[in-house]
Amino acid sequence: TVKTRFAPSPTGYLHVGGARTALYSWLYARNMGGEFVLRIEDTDLERSTQEAIDAIMEGMQWLGLNWEEGPYYQTKRFDRYNQLIDQLIEEGKAYKCYCSRERLDALRETQMANGEKPRYDGTCRDGADQEAPYVIRFRNPTEGSVVFDDHVRGRIEIANNELDDLIIRRTDGSPTYNFCVVVDDWDMGITHVVRGEDHINNTPRQINIYQALGAPVPEFAHVSMILGDDGAKLSKRHGAVSVMQYRDDGYLPEALLNYLVRLGWSHGDQEIFTRQEMIDLFSLDAINKSASAFNTEKLLWLNQHYMKSMDPAYVAEHLQWHMQDQQIDLENGPALEQLIGVMAERCQTLKELAAASRYFYEEFEEFDATAAKKHLRPVAQQPLELVKEKLEALTEWTAEAIHQAIQDTAAELELGMGKVGMPLRVAVTGAGQSPGLDQTLLLIGRTRSVARITKAVE
Ligand code: GLU
Repeated sequence: TVKTRFAPSPTGYLHVGGARTALYSWLYARNMGGEFVLRIEDTDLERSTQEAIDAIMEGMQWLGLNWEEGPYYQTKRFDRYNQLIDQLIEEGKAYKCYCSRERLDALRETQMANGEKPRYDGTCRDGADQEAPYVIRFRNPTEGSVVFDDHVRGRIEIANNELDDLIIRRTDGSPTYNFCVVVDDWDMGITHVVRGEDHINNTPRQINIYQALGAPVPEFAHVSMILGDDGAKLSKRHGAVSVMQYRDDGYLPEALLNYLVRLGWSHGDQEIFTRQEMIDLFSLDAINKSASAFNTEKLLWLNQHYMKSMDPAYVAEHLQWHMQDQQIDLENGPALEQLIGVMAERCQTLKELAAASRYFYEEFEEFDATAAKKHLRPVAQQPLELVKEKLEALTEWTAEAIHQAIQDTAAELELGMGKVGMPLRVAVTGAGQSPGLDQTLLLIGRTRSVARITKAVE
């Protein structure tokens, strides 16, 4: 059965590139009815932090990328790695290397000066034991080549004489990254390795290690980079790159997932994918080879689509977070589901929606100056007083009745609808823009609408 994994190094938050890799890996497992593993690659003790581990898991959970197994931690598996390294030494597949840093630096310089690729020259390959500090090197085959069929990049072949003998254990006894990854993927039964293309140069080396260990070699899919809209590698200066920043900015996880799945993968010209559709339609072979450019406009468009089309109760759960974040007291005001119904088509993010909705819940101190100057004073006294009277007299508080009251006011005073509607809008919302007045007043409620009109004509 298919088993995939996401294997972040916990040196920072979950960024969109990592999230997309995780998504593809997760989707493939789900598509195949397989399992998904989370593995924390924390062997770099200096750069790994608990904070980053928590942030990565929070990001995964917010996106709904759940895992069946893990999190595993590489730092808890050092005994296992070292046991296998000892075994390789015994079998002659790895050896002690006593070359000093000075010697290796000098070698490197000479090679570079000759225009050669820097590589270890194999001095200690067949040497005898010495009383000196050493590292362990993997005895890479010197002949033949490594071939694999990458699901994204196609067939890749590297001659073994291009690869040198990799250090798999440092002088201090700690195993190195390329070795740990292989042991983990083997022990955890990973069948498909989906990861960033920055790892593609490691893959031939890792395949040789699988073979030396007698382990089955998994399949690989190396996913290309994400670029900013200026064509440079996506980074902070392009705006948000942390997944949780997208939550803070008011995106729904479904919008970010849909955006990320399309960023580097396609199914015909379909743009909108529910979570289930992504799962059903995903395949590794349809991942794009070329780098993809981030496009915030499209993400905003998707976000609004999901705000409008998803179950309002679900959108409300996410909106609630923003209401709290902006300290909007929900005690007095419409249910969030109702609010979403009238506001979603006017806003592209939940953050924006929350900010634009304060007047439904709280009294405002001041009118928007421009709107008030234009619509409220001094000309609007009469229409506001009359419409207030009619609103108070309504037998039922419905959108139709409210609309009728405004229309009757305009007719009675022989004014255009706007001459009544705009002052009314500024009076009850404080601003010159809002959803349709009937809906707006309906949600604000009669008592508060009337009180606000009274205040406006005072
Ligand atoms: N820990 C590596 C990274 O965060 C991923 C290694 C892998 O997926 O094999 O880049």
